[in-house]
Amino acid sequence: MRPPSVDAVARSLSDLGLPHPLLVDAAREAIAAGDPDSARQRATMVARALLRPVINATGVLLHTNLGRAPLEVHHPARYTNLELDLATGRRGSRSAHAAALLARAAGAEAALVVNNGAGAVLLALAALAAGRSVVVSRGELVEIGGGFRIPEVMAGSGARLVEVGTTNRTRLGDYRAALDDDVAVVLKVHQSNYRIVGFTEDVGLAALAGLGPPVVYDIGSGLLDEATPWLTGGPPRWLAGEPAARQSLERGAALVTFSGDKLLGGPQAGVIAGRSDLVAACARHPLARALRPGPLVLAALQETALAYLDRRGEDIPFWRMATTPPAELRRRAERLAAAVPGGEVVDCASTPGGGSLPGLEIPSVGVALAGDHAAALRQAPVPVIARVSDGRTVADLRAVDPADDAALGQALAAAAAHGRGSGDSGSAG
Ligand SMILES: *Cc1c(COP(=O)(O)O)cnc(C)c1O
Repeated sequence: MRPPSVDAVARSLSDLGLPHPLLVDAAREAIAAGDPDSARQRATMVARALLRPVINATGVLLHTNLGRAPLEVHHPARYTNLELDLATGRRGSRSAHAAALLARAAGAEAALVVNNGAGAVLLALAALAAGRSVVVSRGELVEIGGGFRIPEVMAGSGARLVEVGTTNRTRLGDYRAALDDDVAVVLKVHQSNYRIVGFTEDVGLAALAGLGPPVVYDIGSGLLDEATPWLTGGPPRWLAGEPAARQSLERGAALVTFSGDKLLGGPQAGVIAGRSDLVAACARHPLARALRPGPLVLAALQETALAYLDRRGEDIPFWRMATTPPAELRRRAERLAAAVPGGEVVDCASTPGGGSLPGLEIPSVGVALAGDHAAALRQAPVPVIARVSDGRTVADLRAVDPADDAALGQALAAAAAHGRGSGDSGSAG
């Protein structure tokens, strides 16, 4: 028998909504494998591997595998004044919008936006210290998930790392002893994802600033202001101790660097903010061109910065979710659990995540199902990522948009029905 034509098989898959060339690939592979019927499954796997929305029911607000901070994008096709000065008609600067607004919100003279936090540190070190020395405490030689290690970034920038102090204690005298004409920068790095506790000592920014060389402080998570003026209820308790851009600059940092998609709550980006002469030196460095973000990122970051300046914390999805009162989550959980056979309302603890605020928990509420339903939930029409512990599956509502409650409820109900069907020998329920 002649195998079916590639085109006929591909056309039979058109309901999957994939572009025709991808359906043709699936059809061709299936026919070559001698199993034309497998084309649908092959194409389905391609469709499932595409980037698409998922429901984050893990309770980890900034989940690295789920793209850290949630992002709203609604953007009709249009040009922007990305590098056009509308007043003069001349070439403008990419730093005129999002970067300028962020500088304003952080109380910085100037700011520059790059692709991520790692890029911000790399560029600042390359621009200010290539071929010279950078002094860092041994307690701050951090590794951030995904392979960002301070000594390696330092090497990549062309600066020489000078370690001072010990893992748990570094004193001002340690820095002073390392100072010579070759030192271009004193680098301070926030221990984002770990803490050193017990017999410890480190040196505050004001003292570091008094040493002479500019202090670059990699604060990591992009909290703009300790006082969180964008939140009506003031700073949440779980934020305690997290360094903020505004106060770090006030206390003597010449530059701060941070991510756009951690506590800042914007798109993936990196920000260098502080003294205008140093920001300008970063902008002039050839690496700045290689690390510059595109208009989509700058537009999203501008939205985020405008929300900060307008004190509209509720318009920044991360802050809206992080500060939703548990009572509100409980109301939603009760509605959901009532519609899910076996569903139970449970208290749980969310975490900020994203390599920030280790060990800190935000009280939350979720819906639990007995058994491990993680795999079934991932296969739902809108995939749900949930947590499994102590023999039950918990969907934490803190990082779930209320608009997704219906889809979450359907996924939980389907998982519950499926679990019951397979677990109990044949009796229909
Ligand atoms: C997260 C982090 C980085 C890296 O930022 P990315 O945006 O992930 O590249 C660098 N330094 C510190 C202290 C961080 O917390």
